[in-house]
Amino acid sequence: MPGLLTETTLSAADRCDRCGAGARVRAVLESGGELLFCRHHANEHQDRLQQMNATIVVDADADAVA
Ligand SMILES: [Zn+2]
Repeated sequence: MPGLLTETTLSAADRCDRCGAGARVRAVLESGGELLFCRHHANEHQDRLQQMNATIVVDADADAVA
């Protein structure tokens, strides 16, 4: 697996930064910062994240966690 993609898996311990629900989406900012969102908030902030050129990673395995 490529090095850049080794930390894309979200776990039950990862929580949405906005509401505390199980995180399903990881947004990596150009600044190096990182935000976690549930599906709902990922959709809500998607436009803003794209404006910020954030790299959005959806973790398919997190479905069972949420
Ligand atoms: Zn949320």
